[in-house]
Amino acid sequence: MKKGLPIDSSLLQQGEEKFKALMHDVESTYAIFDAHKRKAYLPITENVKMAFSEHSKIGGIPYLRNENDWPICENCQRNMDLLVQLNLADIPEKAEEGLLQLFYCTSKETDCTSVLEGYLPFSKASVVRKIVAEGPSSKVRPNLTKVFQEKVITGWQVQFDYPHREEYDVLGIEIPHDGVFDYLYEQKIGSPIRKDKLFGWPNWIQGVSYPKAPKTGADMQFLFQLASFDHLAYRFGDDGTGHITQSVHGSGQLAFGWACH
Ligand SMILES: [Zn+2]
Repeated sequence: MKKGLPIDSSLLQQGEEKFKALMHDVESTYAIFDAHKRKAYLPITENVKMAFSEHSKIGGIPYLRNENDWPICENCQRNMDLLVQLNLADIPEKAEEGLLQLFYCTSKETDCTSVLEGYLPFSKASVVRKIVAEGPSSKVRPNLTKVFQEKVITGWQVQFDYPHREEYDVLGIEIPHDGVFDYLYEQKIGSPIRKDKLFGWPNWIQGVSYPKAPKTGADMQFLFQLASFDHLAYRFGDDGTGHITQSVHGSGQLAFGWACH
């Protein structure tokens, strides 16, 4: 029989006690996170030929109520790109009538993102709106050099999601020490998912930045996250992440903003 390495049993015991203490802290912290977890829905998509349709989709072309319904960028006078369209009757939880559409001008030649400060919520580089579809969509030839690959959302993958570390203070979440955070992080607990998703918690890049609803001044609520090069072949600045938010008190205000490192 081979002899193993000599083991200092006191060290082993110390290690075991440290581990027990860590697990104790992890369990109490886990209970706190459990109270704050939300369901996030990650889109499952299929590449399709673009169509003026009412489907939930990322990229492609929108449903249009009439021939003049496709928003035009003030800076370059071209049609804005459709980034996301959600048929709200199809979404999990809080289903309602109507289509949510996010348009954004990605034109590089005219650099509309910089000129219009497109990263800011309520920038003129973006239009977020809820519309009601009535009858088949109007069909127009878009004034655009390129349209993003249309990806129809065929389903949603549900995952638990947790607030960003920058939100812990406001939520009253206290982490005993970094060891606990790191342990939970590895288990995908305690941090927001970084991909495209509906609901859940936003993955903030430059600190917590819920826009204020212009009418009420209240924080707007997170609705949809769009990450650089997840489903949409577009990079927000330097690998940024964008968020659609909506006003809480039914005033129907919507916003889109993004941030990068
Ligand atoms: Zn533009």
